Amino acid sequence: MFSSDLSYSSMKSILDQSSRRNTTIAGLRPETQEMVARLGVAAKLSGLDLRVGEAYRSYQRQYDIWAPGRVAGRLDEPKTFAAAPGRSLHEQGRAVDVFFSGANQEEQFSPEKYKKLYETYTDLYGKDIRWGGNWKSRDMPHFETRMGGLSSNVSERGLAKYNLTASDLGTMVAEEASRLQKIAIDKVEKRFGKKINIAGAPSQTRQQSVSTTRAPSPPANKVSAPTQAQAPVKKQAASNTATQMSMKYQNSSLEILLAENKRILGLKQSLLTII
Ligand SMILES: [Zn+2]
Repeated sequence: MFSSDLSYSSMKSILDQSSRRNTTIAGLRPETQEMVARLGVAAKLSGLDLRVGEAYRSYQRQYDIWAPGRVAGRLDEPKTFAAAPGRSLHEQGRAVDVFFSGANQEEQFSPEKYKKLYETYTDLYGKDIRWGGNWKSRDMPHFETRMGGLSSNVSERGLAKYNLTASDLGTMVAEEASRLQKIAIDKVEKRFGKKINIAGAPSQTRQQSVSTTRAPSPPANKVSAPTQAQAPVKKQAASNTATQMSMKYQNSSLEILLAENKRILGLKQSLLTII
């Protein structure tokens, strides 16, 4: 059902060119993409409208949300609670943060809505995923897959509760997956000026329009999206971007190292003072 072309392994090199928030299923592992589709259906069955706040994160993105609290705040009292770069399941394509459509933050991040969503999900599929709302330090919007992947069993009781057959549910999930897939293809193509060829894409017409008539969109951000006529420039721009990203990362790493060194020196000095 899920094309591997939008998955972690094939999207990583593209998505890693940007440190911007990625609100699509692109870059998620296939089972995580399926989890998002299941959550979308569970939301619908609960009268909720689910939105993806953030899914796959590049190392740089994880760094960017983790670092400010570490550098600006005291190192022993970080102001952000994001996992350190390299340690988040978002970076492995296994986690998603969701919210709900609504006029304000209370509606968009309503704890009751999250509870209802998780309840409906587990009614149908059991506890085959992890929800941050169950953790000691709560992370309500966060859902992640387990190492064993998703359960393929659907609860008979759950189906009865929502007045569905297994086949109804399967169709709903497939439709939701295809909707999420289209959004992901669209956004990635627009942002990176890349053509995503999906095996088993929704329609042949779409593939043709993508590969022959559609001009890459203008850059949506720092990452260049030049036209095909500028192919050499494109390569140059991409490698420049990669270099910039890598330099930015190296600089940030240096900042952290310097800050850590300062802290250790500070500790040594205070120890000396005590001694
Ligand atoms: Zn998360």
